[in-house]
Amino acid sequence: MNQVQPPLHDESEMTYDVAVVGGGPAGATAADDLARAGHSVVLIDRAGRIKPCGGAIPPRAIRDFAIPPSQIVARIACARMVAPSATSVDMPIDDGYVGMVDREPFDEWLRERAAQSGARRITATFERFERDPDGTARLHLRPRDGEAPLSLRARMVIGADGANSPLARAAMPGSKRPPFVFAYHEIVRVPTQAGGGYDGKRCDVVYQGRISPDFYGWIFPHGGTASIGTGSAHKGFSLKDAVAVLRREAGLEGAETIRREGAPIPMKPLKKWDNGRDVLLAGDAAGVVAPASGEGIYYAMLGGRLAGEAVQLALKTGDARALATARKRFMADHGRVFWILGLMQWIWYRNDKRREQFVKLCRNPDVQKLTWDSYMNKQLVRGKFMAHVRVFFNDLSHLLGMAR
Ligand SMILES: Cc1cc2nc3c(=O)[nH]c(=O)nc-3n(C[C@H](O)[C@H](O)[C@H](O)COP(=O)(O)OP(=O)(O)OC[C@H]3O[C@@H](n4cnc5c(N)ncnc54)[C@H](O)[C@@H]3O)c2cc1C
Repeated sequence: MNQVQPPLHDESEMTYDVAVVGGGPAGATAADDLARAGHSVVLIDRAGRIKPCGGAIPPRAIRDFAIPPSQIVARIACARMVAPSATSVDMPIDDGYVGMVDREPFDEWLRERAAQSGARRITATFERFERDPDGTARLHLRPRDGEAPLSLRARMVIGADGANSPLARAAMPGSKRPPFVFAYHEIVRVPTQAGGGYDGKRCDVVYQGRISPDFYGWIFPHGGTASIGTGSAHKGFSLKDAVAVLRREAGLEGAETIRREGAPIPMKPLKKWDNGRDVLLAGDAAGVVAPASGEGIYYAMLGGRLAGEAVQLALKTGDARALATARKRFMADHGRVFWILGLMQWIWYRNDKRREQFVKLCRNPDVQKLTWDSYMNKQLVRGKFMAHVRVFFNDLSHLLGMAR
């Protein structure tokens, strides 16, 4: 399956069309698309870290990025929204399912697909960004232990190295980190006879201030394992204690813990994704995660695809302004939904009274239909305008305490 690749010491004088830093969903997608289009691409990913992630992806991601059934470790048929009072609302999915991926094999599969398409894979940590005398970008890398440091040149660089993006820090001075919530989860092995109401085909989403003062907690099944987690932007809040509560109440307190891990989830797309010359950010590095839900895998893959297309256009025309088309196209399609989700988070995640109203609102069949339609297909369907209007007034009457 692996392609024969030239030895590492040949890299320093070679100039790639594109270097992609970060081999998560954004970087691996960009590298795959660019290699398929015939460009010389290098995909750089550091070794040995599994991305902490709930792993929920919509059918649109499965369709658009040809994700094979073998990568789907569970198919979710329902979401349970849990209110502060512990009352809950089940939101069944009428048409289709939410796919769950396990990020360790999933990300590796994405990187390997890119390699199969012709991208050169290097397992190394990006450390430094410099320019050669002719102005070309040079990346300095630290490979795995025991291997000599190396550097390489690239006409274009895509930064898909996650929310902390060392590349953005190094190559785009002045670029700000996006605002984020810090998320923490535990991967547990689900006993064959799990008690406590655990259901391997249902995602539980817990809206309670004791679980998160400003986000939500979750129990997401992954076949034989489950991701149990929560997030918050409040520094003093104990995410670990909250996860212990979630585990206890799901009857998974004594289940074997396989991993404990956390990472930031960006909450707002950056205003600028490129340096106007040869560097373009994608995925979490560009701050592209849906507010309120924390959904980032689909958006990272789309961001990687749009970054790949923008870079191709810049290479073809020699006009670096083409790099800005990635953000423009993304925001044209998803900016409105991100804005609405940001507003929802601001309105509904403030305190337990609001959370209680929010979960109550989820009983509404229009809300359920809209939620699933927009999540599954990433489109607001025009014909459903009246449903939108009804939902809007419903939202408002709940907010103003007028609904019974
Ligand atoms: C706890 C948690 C739960 C989540 N749950 C969900 C969910 O259920 N569904 C969903 O859609 N989204 C979820 N998200 C968000 C989702 O995980 C991210 O939005 C998504 O992974 C972003 O993809 P990416 O490729 O941009 O970045 P990442 O997936 O972060 O990939 C970045 C890559 O860059 C590499 N890298 C970093 N620094 C360097 C360096 N210096 N040199 C070389 N390589 C480097 C990393 O090793 C990594 O492979 C969750 C996030 C968290 C933290």
